Amino acid sequence: MTTETSAGSAAISIEPGGRKASIALVDRQGNILQREETKTLWGRPASATLEPYVRAIETMLAFAATEGYHICGLGVSIPGTLDATASRPLIVPTLPSLSGFPLCEFLQTRFGLPVSLHVDVDAALLAEAQFHSGAKRLLFLNMNAVLGAALLLDGRLQRMDGPYLGHTCHLPVTVGAGGTRCGCGKRGCINTLISLDAIQKMVQRAQRRDEESSLLQRLGRREAFSPQLLAEEAARGDRVALQVYAEIGRWLGAALDKYIALLAPEVCILGGGILTASESVFDQLRAALLTQSSQAGEAVEIVPARLGDDAVLIGAALPLFSTELSSRTKAEQPVQQKRRQQQKRRPRIALHHADDLSGDEVGLGASLLADALQSQQLRQGNA
Ligand SMILES: [Zn+2]
Repeated sequence: MTTETSAGSAAISIEPGGRKASIALVDRQGNILQREETKTLWGRPASATLEPYVRAIETMLAFAATEGYHICGLGVSIPGTLDATASRPLIVPTLPSLSGFPLCEFLQTRFGLPVSLHVDVDAALLAEAQFHSGAKRLLFLNMNAVLGAALLLDGRLQRMDGPYLGHTCHLPVTVGAGGTRCGCGKRGCINTLISLDAIQKMVQRAQRRDEESSLLQRLGRREAFSPQLLAEEAARGDRVALQVYAEIGRWLGAALDKYIALLAPEVCILGGGILTASESVFDQLRAALLTQSSQAGEAVEIVPARLGDDAVLIGAALPLFSTELSSRTKAEQPVQQKRRQQQKRRPRIALHHADDLSGDEVGLGASLLADALQSQQLRQGNA
């Protein structure tokens, strides 16, 4: 039986990365109440890699206890793939020692708490989905080093058992032998066409063409390349930055058409620094996608992610509250069933509301990005 304390329930979220891990205390509403970071010991066996995380979890548990929170479980998100039971990571490129390691079992034994394990982009979608409760089919495209993709249908994450086949981010967009080879062995997957690596190659090509560009001048003065820098220059109308966004828009538009045809998402959430660093650039990108895609304008609402990097930590925690709820519901079921049987059935009232899909007007003037997009042909097989 659960003993609820005065502050209510919370979960602890862990996001391990190649250099550091983030640990957070998250409440039922998805608020991060406390967070810590701990260094990752790279290149060690799994148990040694996990030891700093374990200490950080212990610290967080002690904090939660002093604040009066009941901890309903541990949520872990990993960059990579999971096995079919979602109880252990299958491939973790940034932390190879965790690949195949029975992570849930290890943490359950250590802390005696339920553990929920997710791929990071799936966790982020669970968090972002809170803002789209009216939509049944949500597609999340998150662009950081590579494009990650996740799909939520009727409130359930669509998970694939194997490492590559069926994964939304390995959607083949180009035909032919050109382009960077993906980790799955193929060429032309969307996650390689608009990766950070691909963007840097676009910028390098512009450098070789010796184009007049404020972005190139700033990089020439050894300013570090960042999503913010690229978005800032695009918003100022820099030629090369706009070319980069036009290419992102073309590939994303081509991918979106396929996603719509196959999955019919009602909402497509775009996340990650490159796509959301600037509101004006996002608006131009959305207009370009709506112009480019033959179906997007009427079929899908394109919105920016709202939670940024916090989405992964929040989303990894949220399912633990449902588990807590469902275990309570099971315990309460016999009583509720009896009550229901005693109640006289009443007619059901259906409540409908219109979807708010009217916000994106495609025809409101030609943006710089849409112009750039329309002026170039979609290149095939040469990312
Ligand atoms: Zn691939």
